[in-house]
Amino acid sequence: MQRGASDQEIKSAYRKLAMQFHPDRNPNNPDAEEKFKEASEAYAVLADAEKRGMYDRFGHAGVGSAGGGAGFDATVFHDFSDIFGEFFGFGDIFGGGGRSGGRRTRAQRGADLREDITIEFEEAVFGAEKKITYRKHDNCETCGGSGSAQGKAPASCRTCGGRGQVRYQQGFFSIARTCPACQGAGSVISDPCAKCKGEGRVVQQKTIDAKIPAGVEDGTRIRFTGVGEAGVQSGPPGDLYVVLHVKEHPFFERQGNDLYCTVPISFTQAALGTEIEVPTLEADHTLKIPEGTQSGTVLKIRGKGVPVLNGHGKGDLFVEVRLETPSKLTKRQRELLQELQSITQIENKPERHSLLGKMKDMFTQA
Ligand SMILES: [Zn+2]
Ligand SMILES: [Zn+2]
Repeated sequence: MQRGASDQEIKSAYRKLAMQFHPDRNPNNPDAEEKFKEASEAYAVLADAEKRGMYDRFGHAGVGSAGGGAGFDATVFHDFSDIFGEFFGFGDIFGGGGRSGGRRTRAQRGADLREDITIEFEEAVFGAEKKITYRKHDNCETCGGSGSAQGKAPASCRTCGGRGQVRYQQGFFSIARTCPACQGAGSVISDPCAKCKGEGRVVQQKTIDAKIPAGVEDGTRIRFTGVGEAGVQSGPPGDLYVVLHVKEHPFFERQGNDLYCTVPISFTQAALGTEIEVPTLEADHTLKIPEGTQSGTVLKIRGKGVPVLNGHGKGDLFVEVRLETPSKLTKRQRELLQELQSITQIENKPERHSLLGKMKDMFTQA
């Protein structure tokens, strides 16, 4: 960097370097990390008018060993909050102090919350209105969030003199740290509010009306914006995530938007064909069993599945028919079946079902 560069030049040069060597862009790269640190420290020196005067007059030697990590004023990072974001947690480590006069002023978004609820199978399919009760921190109503007992004000912190930061000299540099006594607030609560014990916040039970849309499934997460924990220093509130757990149905199984069920039919129904009443999640449905239906055949009832979440249409209902063999026969039934058997030719040959066998069949047919 040229001596005598303008503030703007320094800033943009640093910004370029910071972007280039930022650890987020160079994961597991100690070299880049080192460069990033150097650039930050160099900027810290150059951004300080006094130290910069030394640099302008004496060059690099004028500011001595700028390295070492602790020897720079961290307040420079405030200009780069857009780059750093939450990285390294600068806001916390350095207490947001510095140029604004020492008080912590940085707004923080409130934390997100999670609440798990269990709903019925049908509620997941058709949607539901639910009241969701959860616990969150809220401003204490007794003290209005100040943490002090009524009529009392927080006292200025003696350790930092109300600045929120303590500074001390280390060799050439003045180092700023968040005040350990007041955690950067600049004040301490001398008469704490009895209800919140000086916290300014209390845990409260909240209830919201939640609309569960039709078509959700087990594990679906619904976000309710802005009802999570309150933000700090007028930061925005966090969100509430409601995680759904769906109970099982006595006979429907669900896969995506399709439903599956198994219905027993008799040998004669399968052989002769018939119509049966099949339950769906709405009204019963008349299902035609074609003549000669085999056990295990899956029949599709279109549009009787689950509505597509946030979309159009519905899945299908698949009915597997399973042949039930009668276990108790009347005399007459036995006679009829025996007569049937006498005129039926059944070949009890094992079926070929191995993959190898099927492949052989394919080649011999070809
Ligand atoms: Zn203090
Ligand atoms: Zn209170």
